[in-house]
Amino acid sequence: MKSVILIAAPAAGKGTEAALLKSEYNMPHISTGDILREKSKEDSEMGRDISYKINNGIFVSDDIIIDILKERIKKEDCKNGYILDGFPRNVAQAEAYQEMLKELNKELGVVIVIDIDKSLAAARIAGRISCPNCKEVYNTNSKELTPKVEGICDKCGEKLVKRADDNEETYLDRYNTYIEKTAPLIDYYTKLGVVYHVDGNSGKASTHEQVKKILGE
Ligand code: AMP
Repeated sequence: MKSVILIAAPAAGKGTEAALLKSEYNMPHISTGDILREKSKEDSEMGRDISYKINNGIFVSDDIIIDILKERIKKEDCKNGYILDGFPRNVAQAEAYQEMLKELNKELGVVIVIDIDKSLAAARIAGRISCPNCKEVYNTNSKELTPKVEGICDKCGEKLVKRADDNEETYLDRYNTYIEKTAPLIDYYTKLGVVYHVDGNSGKASTHEQVKKILGE
């Protein structure tokens, strides 16, 4: 299976779709946000810097992200492809990623853009909760994403948590950063002929059906 890069505004459903692809195609789901949230717990200057940036919707420096990503995709489980969720986040990261692929002799794969209306994404943020253990994402504002037992992960039984950056104020900053820094990647990858769009407004099942069609399933 080819590697998949998911690009979308925050709360459009990247994490949810990546989790489905991971379980169906047995490919690793690499979320730079999840990796950074783990690193932010470290009692070090770097841990505190990452924590501040994540909580305020500010990008972590490209150098840090690129090193993290390179170490991750060198691992054995990535040899037949992987799903990228949250990387690249800007054109500089995409350019560095192209170099990395060349060096590691890996293919780019496909880029799937999940399109969503800004107002719907903002509404989803309000109900989003996730599992700090297995990273499953839930949403109390969506029937198909509500956990079976309130506040508990269906998959591993852990208590669900709300992300510190999932509030209305930080969301607007994160959305504007997406438009300014990340959306130009759509042009970048369109020029390379690898972009597919799916409509993320109808939720988890519909998004997944569209993605499976693109992947030829
Ligand atoms: P996410 O879980 O993808 O919404 O990411 C949460 C936060 O982690 C973002 O708001 C950024 O602060 C940081 N982050 C995640 N991925 C990247 C990246 N590729 N480049 C810079 N910062 C990132």
